[in-house]
Amino acid sequence: MNKIRTDIKALLTLIGVINQLDKLLLPLRIITSALQNTLPYAGIYVSAYVVGSLTDGKPIESFLPRALWIIGITGTLNALVYAVMRVDNAHLLGADVAFQTLMGEKTLSLDYPSLENPETVTLRQKISQENSWGQSLWGIIGSIAGIFGTVLSLIIGIIILLPLLASFVNVNIWLGLAFIVFIALIMFIQTRIAAWSQKKRDTINDENSKQLKYYMQLVGNAGISYKDGKDVRLFDAHGLISRYLFLGQANVIKNLTDKMAGVSSANNGANTLVEAILTGANYIVVGAISLMGALPIGSVIFCAGAVGRVVGALGNLSYQGTSLLRIARRWNIVMGFFDIPPVLPKGKEGLPISSSERYEIEFHDVSFKYPGSDQCALKNLSMKIDPRQRIAVVGRNGSGKTTMVKLLCRLYDPTEGIITINGIDIKTIDYNTYMSLFSVVFQDFKLFSFSLGVNVAADLTYDESCAAESLDEAGFTERIEKMDRGLETPLYKDFEEDGVEISGGEAQKIALARALYKDAPFIVLDEPTAALDPIAEFEVYSKFNEIVGGKTAIYISHRLSSCRFCDDIAVFHEGELIQRGSHDALIADENGKYHELWNAQAQYYAENKKISDL
Ligand code: ADP
Repeated sequence: MNKIRTDIKALLTLIGVINQLDKLLLPLRIITSALQNTLPYAGIYVSAYVVGSLTDGKPIESFLPRALWIIGITGTLNALVYAVMRVDNAHLLGADVAFQTLMGEKTLSLDYPSLENPETVTLRQKISQENSWGQSLWGIIGSIAGIFGTVLSLIIGIIILLPLLASFVNVNIWLGLAFIVFIALIMFIQTRIAAWSQKKRDTINDENSKQLKYYMQLVGNAGISYKDGKDVRLFDAHGLISRYLFLGQANVIKNLTDKMAGVSSANNGANTLVEAILTGANYIVVGAISLMGALPIGSVIFCAGAVGRVVGALGNLSYQGTSLLRIARRWNIVMGFFDIPPVLPKGKEGLPISSSERYEIEFHDVSFKYPGSDQCALKNLSMKIDPRQRIAVVGRNGSGKTTMVKLLCRLYDPTEGIITINGIDIKTIDYNTYMSLFSVVFQDFKLFSFSLGVNVAADLTYDESCAAESLDEAGFTERIEKMDRGLETPLYKDFEEDGVEISGGEAQKIALARALYKDAPFIVLDEPTAALDPIAEFEVYSKFNEIVGGKTAIYISHRLSSCRFCDDIAVFHEGELIQRGSHDALIADENGKYHELWNAQAQYYAENKKISDL
């Protein structure tokens, strides 16, 4: 029962999605399907009418005009159906794009905890492993419209067959019953054939998509993406890749064509045989009834034709119903993704009134566990960040520094405890307004394949002088001077031939410029110099106060030497804040973690090893 409810819910959502794409699609398709399913009756009628009139010895001119009229109108309507179907096909091509757009919009609107949640990641992987979602979105329109048209055809067929049924009652009711049992048997055989071929097709498709996935992930990308080119060349992996390219392609094509062709011909052969038996029996029985004088001769053609259509319609109905259900079941995976609810309260309040953006933030006994993890990434953190303070957060990898920042800028909410801004719980403040307070450069920041200026502004339109100034402050001036198109220079070569490749350090400077351009009252730099060379790193440090200006700055690093210029240092260890103070005060505490870390790092320096860990 529950399953049926979820299937119906999936179907209704799908119809909603289709209507969102285009309101005319479904009605148009229903009309075409209705015409496609009912027009053949006109053809059968004309044949029956002409034969009936001829056998009755009527002069040609008495029935020909009517027959021609019907043929003309049917022909025109058929042409119309094909014209509409051409438009359909254009939509079909766009359906995958439409589906990707919907997925993209949903992904962008997810709250960050949902995005990073392993369940979401698995769901997204499952969705991306199958690539015909747009088609199934489209298939559902075909099935719904198909069911509508088929039911119509069934109703018309049964109405036409009423005189035949009456004749059976008059002539021989047992013959009628035997005929109905025979038709039911034929239909049963047809359903078994359809189920068998569908099962075979599914198995082949599953097997094939596994191969295709492997082929695309392991081989396709390595062969296509220029970013993998270095490794392919240096490790002389060319032979390996091309062998797999060839094997993959050969396997994929062989699997598809050979096996599918085998199933199709078996399916078609069996169906043709069954249909031939049905048609033969159909004409014999209806003809016999006519010979017994219970039906005029013209009606033999009409009724025999209608029996064929009714049997076809019943078979079609079960096929369309099953495929509708299959799509709904498959679509449940996508629904799982579309149904991910918002998880962060978005708040309504404005920011607390403060003179010249002086905000004080405080963590009150905050603990945090990532979704799906039973380990505390932060434990009972109580910490105050005063307005315009420069605070360095240090500690070994995994000690909770980045997690603290994620909570601070509301990518996550604490599992326990609260964070306040000027004494007010940050959860009560309008989400976007609160987010606008922070400029953050994360370790794993991301630049986009747009122009340099767009990257700095994170917007398609930007203030050129501000963007240039931010890049200058971030130490990018020398590099931009070498770029012919300046701020218009596209980054990376994904979309533009003259896109530039940038080094890790250059990328970090652009990310820093983006944070400066935003000009928010808080600036958070998470390992901002990790990819910079020593000179660039020195420049960032020496200009740090100037760069940060009147903002509150939080500077995260596991490299203690980088933090000495901050007047306040917070030491994190295994998710806890264990020490806080100036460099001099902390180093003086010989039993403290800071002292231990400092000495350990100084030793690495001295022995000139593991510099990257310093
Ligand atoms: P740091 O920034 O000090 O290197 P993090 O705050 O990134 O440390 O990590 C703190 C702890 O939280 C680590 O044990 C890390 O493995 C865990 N962690 C970080 N991100 C996630 C995540 N998305 N899901 C689960 N655990 C995570």
